[in-house]
Amino acid sequence: MEISRRTVIASGVSVGLTLVLSACAPGTGSGSARHSATGTTPAGPTAFRRTSWSTDPFASGSYSYLAPSDMGTDARLVLAETTGRLHFAGEATSSAAPATTHGAYESGRRAAAELVDSTGTILVIGAGFAGLAAARTLTDAGRGVIVVEARDRTGGRAHTVTLDGIPADLGASWIHGMDDNPMVDLAAAAGVATIPFDYDNEVGGSSSAQEFVDDIFEQALDAEDPEGRALAELLPAQLSPEQQWAIAVNVGGEFAADPAQLAMAAPDEGDSLGGGDALLNLGYSQITDHLAQGLDIRLNWAVADISYDDAGVTVRSVDGQSLRADHGIVTLPVGVLHAESVSFSPALPPEKWEALGALQSGLLDKLWLVFDEVFWDPDVDVINWIDPVNPGHWPFWVNGYKIFGEPILLGFNSGDVAREFAKMSDDEVVASAMAAVKGMTE
Ligand SMILES: Cc1cc2nc3c(=O)[nH]c(=O)nc-3n(C[C@H](O)[C@H](O)[C@H](O)COP(=O)(O)OP(=O)(O)OC[C@H]3O[C@@H](n4cnc5c(N)ncnc54)[C@H](O)[C@@H]3O)c2cc1C
Repeated sequence: MEISRRTVIASGVSVGLTLVLSACAPGTGSGSARHSATGTTPAGPTAFRRTSWSTDPFASGSYSYLAPSDMGTDARLVLAETTGRLHFAGEATSSAAPATTHGAYESGRRAAAELVDSTGTILVIGAGFAGLAAARTLTDAGRGVIVVEARDRTGGRAHTVTLDGIPADLGASWIHGMDDNPMVDLAAAAGVATIPFDYDNEVGGSSSAQEFVDDIFEQALDAEDPEGRALAELLPAQLSPEQQWAIAVNVGGEFAADPAQLAMAAPDEGDSLGGGDALLNLGYSQITDHLAQGLDIRLNWAVADISYDDAGVTVRSVDGQSLRADHGIVTLPVGVLHAESVSFSPALPPEKWEALGALQSGLLDKLWLVFDEVFWDPDVDVINWIDPVNPGHWPFWVNGYKIFGEPILLGFNSGDVAREFAKMSDDEVVASAMAAVKGMTE
């Protein structure tokens, strides 16, 4: 989840998306030498990195959102319920903090607590925050734990890469709410500094359109049957470009879904933590690396089948290996469960599928652009863009120069717009982004 709803409502024009950044300390890069602010937009970036979470088979989307359904917010509790010897964790099972790293982490600790008085060995499926938290807790308690992970790395949807020498988070980047957030202690334990980010330090956008969206969210809180109805029902038939921008930022950026897909109850889900948001110096992967230390993790171990009975749990990999333990903890993302690329024997019970009907996999994608020099306002944190031709495309940008001291812009798309972009070539995506950059900087 990108930002706390309360923050948005309280801050008026202030907008937010998860910054897909992790950073050097502000101003510590070499960028000041490259700042000219000429106002001349170059033809293209010198380097770029694009995410495509919808086509990633081990995520199939960015994070869960609450769709209109009969089950409503109970879906997260039902998804979290134990089925035989299978326990379930992952961000989508968190009612307190869905779609966040700390929600995923706490869900893993909850699943570990369910097993702490049991006997025997434990298989954990997935080495993201949920799986690592479960494995860490149970291993530290002296239990025999094996983690199987499809990728060649740990961290799942927290993943830091290096772009032109700069650490860049492609998935999670923010700690959402510093007060009582386990990520703060984990960062400290891993020796990672946190960097506050000021959403209010922005240009562009529209305060009246922001107020329009704030009002829609207020109406959603008071609506009848908010779990069964879509947020789109509260919107007028025609939206101005400014209103489309505000929805792209506050609905798409927050929930990774469009108003027609999202339950009216979604903005009221989860508990907002206070204390402001922060980025992690040099990226999120440092925390997952820290959590993973000393655990028995089998990488490149993609599970194809999970069978469970009264005596234990067996997992089989796509290349025919198998492992058996007394208990299992499943942390597969909802997108992977929906895709049914992992089969369950016996099949998951109907109530799990009903829960999965309510918990869909949203999409937020990011594009990092690196330039030779800064040609935009170097002092703002956020640049909002109301596209006159395609309102809602590239609505929110982060000024990487402010964070990294490097000439970087970071753009976002979400929901159906992001799904359309996911079908395009790199050249088409970068060309579209550059048209937006030109519009917002000249
Ligand atoms: C673009 C984006 C931006 C985000 N921004 C933020 C943010 O700023 N702050 C925040 O708090 N949260 C943010 N999130 C959400 C956060 O990243 C997730 O909620 C959290 O990382 C999920 O952890 P998890 O353990 O539940 O799932 P995952 O991290 O997805 O872990 C599941 C693991 O299962 C593995 N797996 C999948 N299929 C198989 C298989 N068949 N066999 C074996 N293993 C398998 C996966 O590879 C993965 O490692 C963002 C997410 C995205 C994508």
